[in-house]
Amino acid sequence: MNCPACDHLLQPLKAGPVMVDACIGGCGGIWFDAFEMQKVDEEHEPGAEQLLDIPGDSNVQVDYDRKRKCPRCETVVMLRHAHKDNPAVTVDECPGCGGFWLDAGELGLIRRSHVLTEKKRAHTQALLEQLKRQSLAALHHQPEEAKRRSHAITTINAFFHAWPE
Ligand SMILES: [Zn+2]
Ligand SMILES: [Zn+2]
Repeated sequence: MNCPACDHLLQPLKAGPVMVDACIGGCGGIWFDAFEMQKVDEEHEPGAEQLLDIPGDSNVQVDYDRKRKCPRCETVVMLRHAHKDNPAVTVDECPGCGGFWLDAGELGLIRRSHVLTEKKRAHTQALLEQLKRQSLAALHHQPEEAKRRSHAITTINAFFHAWPE
């Protein structure tokens, strides 16, 4: 299989739970077959460290505007879209086989954005607990204030539970 970004020959690479095809000595990008990327796209998932820095050739210039064909399906042009967890990362997905192409460095960005999402979730939960405690305390002293806070908690609770997975 050849690299969809720079045409270099891709090399099979075993990393933890996944087997990928990496553009070693080329642009440093990585090909993931369908359902493989999700095994290593979160920071706590081990074995992917060697995928974070594929040794490439710094002389290789990647044309990001070029139409990229799936290295597996060969004739199918991949769809370029923002990653669901990090809109700053643009991934190429094959509508034929469901595989993903990531340019050099993108896997690290995706893994870090998962951590940020978790941190946001924990932070929201902590705020909610604090509001609940304050509201209980207020209930004894200021019924009107307690009513206002209770409404705020209901709103935040709804927002929290609507958080996309
Ligand atoms: Zn390449
Ligand atoms: Zn494909």
